[in-house]
Amino acid sequence: MSNPYKRTGEKGEYIDSYYSRTLNVEKEFPELTDDITTSVCVIGGGMAGVATAQGLVDKGINPVLIEANRIAWGASGRNGSFCSSGYSLGTAKIAKKVGKDHARELCMLTNDALSLIKTRIGDRRELRGETDGLLEVSWFDERAAMEKSIEFMNDVMAVDYKFWSKEEIRDLYHSKRYYDGYMKPCAIQVHSLNYTCHSAQQAENGGARVYEKSPVTSVIKHGNGWKVITEKGTVIADQIVMCCSAYIGNLDFKLSAATLPVATYVLLTEPLGERLKSAVEGPYGVSDNRFSSNYYRTLPDSRLFWGGRVSMFNPTGDKLKNIMMNDLLHVYPQLRGIKADVAWGGYMGYPVHKMPQIGELEPGFWYAQGFGGSGMTATVAGGEVVSDAIANGDERYKLFEPYGLQYAAKPFGPIVAQTAYWMFQAQDAFKSWRLNR
Ligand SMILES: Cc1cc2nc3c(=O)[nH]c(=O)nc-3n(C[C@H](O)[C@H](O)[C@H](O)COP(=O)(O)OP(=O)(O)OC[C@H]3O[C@@H](n4cnc5c(N)ncnc54)[C@H](O)[C@@H]3O)c2cc1C
Repeated sequence: MSNPYKRTGEKGEYIDSYYSRTLNVEKEFPELTDDITTSVCVIGGGMAGVATAQGLVDKGINPVLIEANRIAWGASGRNGSFCSSGYSLGTAKIAKKVGKDHARELCMLTNDALSLIKTRIGDRRELRGETDGLLEVSWFDERAAMEKSIEFMNDVMAVDYKFWSKEEIRDLYHSKRYYDGYMKPCAIQVHSLNYTCHSAQQAENGGARVYEKSPVTSVIKHGNGWKVITEKGTVIADQIVMCCSAYIGNLDFKLSAATLPVATYVLLTEPLGERLKSAVEGPYGVSDNRFSSNYYRTLPDSRLFWGGRVSMFNPTGDKLKNIMMNDLLHVYPQLRGIKADVAWGGYMGYPVHKMPQIGELEPGFWYAQGFGGSGMTATVAGGEVVSDAIANGDERYKLFEPYGLQYAAKPFGPIVAQTAYWMFQAQDAFKSWRLNR
């Protein structure tokens, strides 16, 4: 297994996780060992890069897709699995900055992307969790604010979120931590590693050329286009799309400096059998509304798949299992004594403004990165607008212009992220003390 926290450089196999243990795609794509030409070269084979390649294929362009490690080796093959509409920044803050109509257009991109993910999954049910729906629960006793927020989201996002009372929630999720919440009925759980690998396969079937274990070492101007140089080959392309996000390393200074790599984690428990019901009886995924939130779901074999945390210390092994288990027991103390099976981490790309960075750096040099912690659906939205811009001159990517490549103080990034996390944790604790008495 390769170093789970390396951000660039050596070629890696998948890290040990629930996803790699249940990978059902045998195909490996070849290394690039030739000098080839193409109209579009996509760099980075996570959900963003693969969605861009698929989008291009759908629109009649056969791109080359280059991945340094394996397809979905980064955040896309390690995440919490929840796909829903919206962005990491949150709709209220988006609307405050760009206005309601612009915010609605941005959110509609993710509504369409969610539908597209479902279409691409088709009848391959194994790529998708058993039950649709993500329950967002409040850690705080503030029903009126919750109801107002649901009304706002339903209006601006054009969604149909439904209020759930504290009693309804605690009936299915036996935690005293939870107050009122809402259901996102359209949200789904996706086996993101298998999904992205299947998507890469679909792109290849449609005419894309896909390469793994081929780290791009530099990109240079070449006539009116670009020369993409890998360890053992080159790609001459009219246009390129950079989708390396948190794992970009030093490949491009401007893109790298604009996105913080923020490490976050997932724990998988042992099968809990009947004991699970003492805590969780609901079939839906759950996420809470603290800054330092947890999100989780159950697997058909009665395991809890538990995500959360941000840490600059990159814990692994038993240490990480203990940290995550403590969080779980804080919500469900009745599960004390259960064992962890495996825990892992990965980097999300976070711009300072918490919105995806999508655009054209200079003619023919595109980027789609920084999708953050609610990034899966947004990556597909990004893939669609960039591929549509390249294939058809569509200008929807300009909706992201207010959220540019702001400098993210990267050298201090992990310290900034960790300090912010601790600060937000303290705020959560204070708010909970103030409201929940
Ligand atoms: C633990 C965890 C839990 C999460 N939970 C959720 C969740 O429940 N719901 C949600 O919506 N989002 C979640 N996210 C966020 C989501 O996974 C990401 O926003 C999304 O997957 C980002 O996709 P991406 O393609 O932009 O980046 P990545 O998946 O990180 O892909 C970038 C790729 O670029 C490749 N690359 C880098 N440098 C080079 C190079 N020089 N040459 C070639 N290739 C290169 C990397 O190897 C990598 O495969 C989570 C993330 C993590 C880490």
